[in-house]
Amino acid sequence: MIDKNHCLRLDEQDPLAPLRQQFALPEGVIYLDGNSLGARPVASLERARQVIEQEWGDGLIRSWNSAGWRDLPQRLGDRLASLIGAGSGEVVITDTTSINLFKVLSAALRVQAERAPERRVIVSESSNFPTDLYIAEGLTQMLEQGYSLRLVDSPEQLPAAIDQDVAVVMLTHVNYKTGYMHDMQAVTGLIHEAGALSLWDLAHSAGAVPVELNRSGADYAIGCTYKYLNGGPGSQAFAWVAPALCNLVTQPLSGWFGHARQFDMATRYEPASGIARYLCGTQPITSLAMVECGLEVFEQTDMQSLRRKSLALTDLFIELVEQRCAGHDLELVTPRDHAKRGSHVSFEHPEGYAVIQALIARGVIGDYREPRIMRFGFTPLYTRFSEVWDAVQILGEILDQKTWAQAQFQVRHSVT
Ligand SMILES: *Cc1c(COP(=O)(O)O)cnc(C)c1O
Repeated sequence: MIDKNHCLRLDEQDPLAPLRQQFALPEGVIYLDGNSLGARPVASLERARQVIEQEWGDGLIRSWNSAGWRDLPQRLGDRLASLIGAGSGEVVITDTTSINLFKVLSAALRVQAERAPERRVIVSESSNFPTDLYIAEGLTQMLEQGYSLRLVDSPEQLPAAIDQDVAVVMLTHVNYKTGYMHDMQAVTGLIHEAGALSLWDLAHSAGAVPVELNRSGADYAIGCTYKYLNGGPGSQAFAWVAPALCNLVTQPLSGWFGHARQFDMATRYEPASGIARYLCGTQPITSLAMVECGLEVFEQTDMQSLRRKSLALTDLFIELVEQRCAGHDLELVTPRDHAKRGSHVSFEHPEGYAVIQALIARGVIGDYREPRIMRFGFTPLYTRFSEVWDAVQILGEILDQKTWAQAQFQVRHSVT
């Protein structure tokens, strides 16, 4: 049996524990939703003040040069690169994950249209994040010409689905619901053997698990900065393209920021060399600047240390739930196998929505995803082992006392 003292000892021995001081977390809250919206770095407030007062207020238009606003997507991309196994000059931070997906998926299809025009199928998983599927659907409709989306219901069905018709395989590395993690290198190998290109969504991977884009041979990647990277609500997303593919085609959102010579104000589009061609238009700078504060915290540690703690936290959570909440109608949907697990843990419960609402009322913030999934994110930068203990005790009380049955916890909010 694990007891609270054991968890407190784990906190004392945790080499990452001091990093929590760099986050402004409210008192009385156990935050297990950093996989959806990361906590605020303490430094963000001062940085926001600086951007608004000095760079915008005093610098005005001059700040595009003097404060380096113009190159911010590339500079931040360079600071993110090492977290995802990308090289310097290979990543930009710009636009949203949905928009970046549209760009890279379009580009991948263009590459295949030149190499193997008979390949017109995009393969993905039916359990992929909805926006990824919607963007792919919209793109196939726009292209017409027989492009289509082929969905598999489980990772085991992927090999059979990747045949000679497939242009691109678009996968989310860590599944947003189950926390299942693909073996990026093995799956990319499979995709390449079949003559297709690989596109990885790293929304639940960047800053959560070690990722090796170049070493895995991946072709395209995108992902969020407002989740594990703590960039702030709606902060811009990233895009990466393998250097060997990057200059082969242009992406269709060919805005002026991706032009080779933006201020020539030329009539015709000429793409910049490299990842800069994935830029489109003017970015919300106050939001973009916040991304830096999240990345600065990562520079004080490394992904291997974070992964070690992440697995210890998720192992502890699973073990404690099974110890404290046995007999309740909970089903673990996250893989126990470390090699297949991201940094969140999901349990199904028939009243999952109401249980999450009851937890939030007690200060334990997780979230709910249809159908029946209660999702708990573990952020090694700031989650304590003793918080995992406390969260599970509160979950146990809610289940024992059926607190979730109260009317107020049944009300559906617009964001779950
Ligand atoms: C969170 C998430 C997104 C979000 O896309 P936005 O354009 O930022 O809204 C996309 N894909 C996956 C897999 C996600 O988990």
